[in-house]
Amino acid sequence: MFAEVSFPISSYQTFSYKVPDHLAPKIIVGIRVIVPLGNRKVKGIIVGINKVSSFKGKIRTIYDLVDDQQVLNDNLWSLIKWLSKYYNSPLGLAAKAVLPSNLSTKYKPKVEFLVEALPVKEINNSLGSAQKTVYSHLKSLEGRVHVKSLSSLCSNPKDICKKLAEKGLVSLLDRPIIPDLSEFAFKSKNKEIILTSAQNVALEKMVSSMDKDKFNSILLHGVTGSGKTEIYIEAARHAIKINKTVIMLLPEISLTPQIAGRFRSAFGDDVALWHSKLSQGARAWTWKQICGGKFKVVIGARSAIFSPLKNVGLIVVDEEQESSYKQESPNPRYHARDVALMRGKLDNASVILASATPSMESYYNHLNGKYEYIHLKERFGGAKYPKVHVVDMIKESEETELYGNIFSRLLLEKIEDRLSKKEQVILFHNRRGFAPILRCEDCGEISMCPHCNIALTYHSSGKYLQCHFCNHTKKTIPSKCDSCQSFKIKLSGTGTQKVEDELLNKFPEAVIKRLDADSVRSGINLTRILQQFYDNKIDILLGTQMIAKGLDFANATLVGIINGDTGLFLPDFRSSEKVFQLIYQAAGRSGRGEIPGEVIIQTYSPENPVIKCATELNVEKYYNICLEERKALLYPPFSWMVKLEIRGKNISEVEKSINKIKDRMTYPPKGISILGPALCYREKLRDYYRMQLILKSNKELDINGSKLHKYYKSIMSKGVSNEIPSKQRLIIDINPVSLL
Ligand code: ADP
Ligand code: ZN
Ligand code: ZN
Repeated sequence: MFAEVSFPISSYQTFSYKVPDHLAPKIIVGIRVIVPLGNRKVKGIIVGINKVSSFKGKIRTIYDLVDDQQVLNDNLWSLIKWLSKYYNSPLGLAAKAVLPSNLSTKYKPKVEFLVEALPVKEINNSLGSAQKTVYSHLKSLEGRVHVKSLSSLCSNPKDICKKLAEKGLVSLLDRPIIPDLSEFAFKSKNKEIILTSAQNVALEKMVSSMDKDKFNSILLHGVTGSGKTEIYIEAARHAIKINKTVIMLLPEISLTPQIAGRFRSAFGDDVALWHSKLSQGARAWTWKQICGGKFKVVIGARSAIFSPLKNVGLIVVDEEQESSYKQESPNPRYHARDVALMRGKLDNASVILASATPSMESYYNHLNGKYEYIHLKERFGGAKYPKVHVVDMIKESEETELYGNIFSRLLLEKIEDRLSKKEQVILFHNRRGFAPILRCEDCGEISMCPHCNIALTYHSSGKYLQCHFCNHTKKTIPSKCDSCQSFKIKLSGTGTQKVEDELLNKFPEAVIKRLDADSVRSGINLTRILQQFYDNKIDILLGTQMIAKGLDFANATLVGIINGDTGLFLPDFRSSEKVFQLIYQAAGRSGRGEIPGEVIIQTYSPENPVIKCATELNVEKYYNICLEERKALLYPPFSWMVKLEIRGKNISEVEKSINKIKDRMTYPPKGISILGPALCYREKLRDYYRMQLILKSNKELDINGSKLHKYYKSIMSKGVSNEIPSKQRLIIDINPVSLL
């Protein structure tokens, strides 16, 4: 028997291996194996089984299986094949996304040792001095202690305890170390939840959808604070009742502690967490437990969509508009929302796409009747929508004759007011660091990352400059301009650290905490800060998009948006959608409890239609404007899109390669148009220049996108990849979320 094995490499080639007799009964397609490749041992996945091998060379033998139980069911295997085909990714890479190579069901957690003195009347053996010390210490204690805790008594407590155990004086016990997931979930106050009639209608729809045992997709469009999370919990309860499992996707790690806390108080240890801040041990353990069917619910970031849960009945994609659901790299460049829909189809599950600000795609799909639609128009408990104040920062500067001020007078006044009332404030600013730019006032030169075409951000904490793309760090701040030698170099722009400094100055009595990628290196720190805010121990929470959505704090009655325009002018067709959603979501953190809330949006472009709709919190108006624009320019959701990008260190070579591809696109089929080639907006990243070609296909002529797929594959199949120098990279991005 021979097996065809695919590896997580960017080649489509598969390799033949002989199956040893003792493994033959266990070998099936989709199982992972360890095999020799060159002089290495590598993991691969079996993609085919044959009686004879067509390969003429020497055939080597499989060493072993990666897992000691079957992990993939037919549906997950189909999902891998779909990922590979749809996202143009070799099977080995698609398989690796679903089955990360550092996870295996053979994982054995580390063990810890516990020891306890036994009631012994008489000691017959002679004891060494360390043994004596340890033993008499243990006798003085009650119950078991960690062997580790004895290290102050002797240098090798484990050995000593073993010897004592052999002599029958103590009992020594080993126990696997189970990661404590409660560190990542916070303790919510228990409250009685009786769904309102609107919530019940929504729940009923989900329940009847699940009961049909057929794939169904629902867009749950519920304003912020309408109780969507309570509905997910009840829907999950039903799924569990009918013996199904649940995947709950969240776009941002900052959302997990609270939502996981709410789920854990409903379902206890049936809930697993899955995100990047888990330690490798915790991931390995969690994954093994999922494979073993120990969890009913998995809550996590985008890769949680691949959880090897059996019998998935409900998939919730919360804040489904978020671009973090898209994996930019490595291949497969999948979108977890689309994968969720595909997994739902394979598993006959109900897929709930939920948001107060759906993506244009999902909103449009709803308008076209592709999704069942549930609209929750009101906040729970009669909580009012917050009152919004718009501050025109240009006027503000003119009136105060202070330019570049971070806080308007109104915002300061309102913060003061909340502090005096012991209510809480959330300040949102979507730029971390202290100042995003270091610029020469004489010649205008900006300190740039030497590897990327991106300005370096100044961080006040360690006084260094850092590239937010590649993390390149410059430890010394130049005292003069590199280009004209002038000493007039100045920090400009505002990051969260600067906002924090100013806040501390203005409100020295207040407890202020900052939440951004710099302040929360670990998930535990994140949980701690959010928990403190929830418990009213923090007055002002300042942060980036991490705190803009999903969070629920009843006593937060003021939200301040420091600069509503951030990101508005990025040359990407989705930039205005993102700005609208961020402002709307951030505003939605205010006044969620009994006390009505307010929002202050500072902007330099109050007349901009996006800002206007956002400040009016008018979703429909904005979505209509946006859809009109997209339609006129034939951007998604009115077209399918594929981005072809070439990266290389030599710009003229990159240009040559991209032109070669373009030259093959002489007569695209009707409905398909080609933009570019052009330099990407971020034209150089990590020393690689980037040029792109965008292919768009009119949906009216290409209902499911298959025409575009066929077209780009036909272009690529004519040996293009062979023509591209091996030093360059060709990246094919299906349904890109960003063209930057
Ligand atoms: P969303 O996810 O739609 O923004 P949440 O689920 O966070 O809204 O609900 C907002 C707040 O209202 C939460 O504190 C939640 O516990 C509370 N809430 C929602 N529905 C109910 C209900 N039926 N009974 C009690 N509290 C509710
Ligand atoms: Zn200069
Ligand atoms: Zn860089």
